[in-house]
Amino acid sequence: MTELKPCPFCGGEARTTIVRSTIPGYFRISHDAYCMKCNTEQRGAETEAEAITAWNERATPSADLTGWVSWDEIVRQEADRLGYNVDDWDSINGFCLFLLHKIELKTLHRQAMAESTEVESE
Ligand SMILES: [Zn+2]
Repeated sequence: MTELKPCPFCGGEARTTIVRSTIPGYFRISHDAYCMKCNTEQRGAETEAEAITAWNERATPSADLTGWVSWDEIVRQEADRLGYNVDDWDSINGFCLFLLHKIELKTLHRQAMAESTEVESE
């Protein structure tokens, strides 16, 4: 059996899995390949061999990425826009802290909203 290439997005180890799906009156067994690190999936192949081939073909860097946006590029652009230099360790460290702070604030805001809704409904 051909081996799965590492994830094209994060380099993580990939696996295959059998998926059993049902809708009223029907069922389907398909084979998915997925990244164990970031959960990127290649879904719906008829056989495990096809799932591996589909995964490995997507992992080929020469794949046509017209219309796709690179995460690396977006992170780099956002860091640039906010005045952080992603090539400088201290600066990228600051950018990461900024992102974590933003996430934390959103979480706190969400918790506060949930609590105020709970109080209102009592
Ligand atoms: Zn991945």
